[in-house]
Amino acid sequence: MTTLDLLQKLEDRVCPVCGSGPDKATSFLKQSVDPAKLDAFSYASRKTPEYMSFNLVTCRDCQTVYASPAPPAHAVSQAYHEADYDSSDEAVLAARTYGDALARDLAGLGNKGDALEIGTGTGVFLSVLQAAGFTRVTGVEPSPKAIAAADPAIRPHIREGIFVEADFTPESFDLICCFMTLEHVSDPRPLVEACSRLLREDGLLALVTHDYKGPVNRILGRRSPIIDVEHLQIFCPESLQRLVTGAKLDIVRIESFANRYALRYWLRLMPLPKGLKAQLGRLFAATGLERKLIGLRVGNLLTVARKPR
Ligand SMILES: [Zn+2]
Repeated sequence: MTTLDLLQKLEDRVCPVCGSGPDKATSFLKQSVDPAKLDAFSYASRKTPEYMSFNLVTCRDCQTVYASPAPPAHAVSQAYHEADYDSSDEAVLAARTYGDALARDLAGLGNKGDALEIGTGTGVFLSVLQAAGFTRVTGVEPSPKAIAAADPAIRPHIREGIFVEADFTPESFDLICCFMTLEHVSDPRPLVEACSRLLREDGLLALVTHDYKGPVNRILGRRSPIIDVEHLQIFCPESLQRLVTGAKLDIVRIESFANRYALRYWLRLMPLPKGLKAQLGRLFAATGLERKLIGLRVGNLLTVARKPR
């Protein structure tokens, strides 16, 4: 799959959350894709942002922002299969943050049998789930490179591939997690509906997504890290509510939380000129500041939903 393959076969989409057509769509951002920059690295998680996007529109019915036209589903799957992986430090910090954000939900969960994480990367969150008391943890991850980078103790729990509902038993999970992945899939609605069917009664679905209405993202505009070719839809609380309740799940909460990363990583995300970024990078490295952990509310949302009895 080359960049040109991705760009030549763009397809018009309807709203991936509510199904409304182009008559209900308002322009959000015009397409800006530079094929020269769209290399394999574009589809790795937590990489340096490029501020490129397909044509983005806002659905007036459910407020989801989505890419249309966009690459077809099989092309997107292939791009993730081939993606490079380079961010294990950040993956560990992210897993801790998500574990903390979910702590009270997990503490209140009656049964901690099976847990599933869709888009598990190196599977670091599976370790967090084991520590939280889950008996069986399973991750699904399309990138073999991410799986190769997994802790050998966790690797056997990761299935390589795109999530397919038929691979799992209906009503068999007490918890299903999908973190920073829902923006990347071609069709998030069937995915969340599948999660709903795979959950046991009282089981929880936990989603972490960006929030395009978050203050930082609004201020940065096109320079926000959420503006990226890999994001086929971008959510806000209203669109997440629609997505989750449409899948017959009850909302527990949708709220922002602080992400903790090393200063070095925040610097990578900042919309600064390259020269200045490099200078600051050297300064932070020389002073040891680069490893300092900083928690910021940057417009990420945790959605927790429960399968009703
Ligand atoms: Zn919609």
